[in-house]
Amino acid sequence: MKSAKKSLGQNFLVDKNIIKKIIDLTQIKNKNVIEIGPGKGALTEEIILRKPKSIKLIEKDYQLYKDLKSKYSSIKNVTVLNADILKFNLEKILKQDCLLFGNLPYNISSQILVKILKSNRLYLIQDLILMFQKELAEKILGFYPSKNYGRISILSNYKLSYKKKFNVSNNCFIPKPKITSTVIHFQPKDKNFKINNIDYLEKVTNILFSGKRKMINKNIKKLLSNSDLKKIPNFNLNLRPSEIRPEIYYKITEIYEKK
Ligand code: SAM
Repeated sequence: MKSAKKSLGQNFLVDKNIIKKIIDLTQIKNKNVIEIGPGKGALTEEIILRKPKSIKLIEKDYQLYKDLKSKYSSIKNVTVLNADILKFNLEKILKQDCLLFGNLPYNISSQILVKILKSNRLYLIQDLILMFQKELAEKILGFYPSKNYGRISILSNYKLSYKKKFNVSNNCFIPKPKITSTVIHFQPKDKNFKINNIDYLEKVTNILFSGKRKMINKNIKKLLSNSDLKKIPNFNLNLRPSEIRPEIYYKITEIYEKK
């Protein structure tokens, strides 16, 4: 067996029950499916059994890509792409009501999530079922007010609704990682977003959380003028970044983006 590449976060899921549990979180029949980092096809196999309309696999590792390509060469609706998801034009392959699966490489999973969040065609996805390292999942799931509340949950919550589904023990993978994983089921929020460019929300949260334990009264001046601040009712500048509701971050960003 070829050795797994640590640099590509290659921990392959081998527990059949967990694989089924992930795939059964949504209905796949006749849906267009995208899978990020299919690896050796652990999730892919089970997805194909449920008869999707099509499935597109995005795998960075050239050897795994080649193996998957030959494995599925006789199945018409399977497309295997050798690409880096962080550089890939995801918009191009998103279709109405498509499904996105990924047991994500741990080292870049927050970047992948942010990339997905920045897509202006995110609304096309019906369900996103993604696996993260437990500690990152806790931050994503860190709703206001909680100790894990912060930048990634503010960003994620703007466009997505989501729930923790279950943890996955490190014994379910080969090679066995040191960490526990968590599966989260996301669905895009159905609303008209007032922030056009999520980069601004990223910038606002980066600046305000740069002094995590400090009151935001100094850092906010890097973003808004006193007259801008008056547009935000009941905004207390003596709070710490983690004490400010997500809606306030969204309002700050709306005003900042217009400037
Ligand atoms: N889905 C498989 C499974 O559950 O067994 C593999 C999961 S493994 C945690 C992550 C996979 O993502 C690996 O196959 C790895 O080669 C691939 N990968 C790593 N970085 C990637 C990137 N930037 N773009 C696409 N795939 C990537």
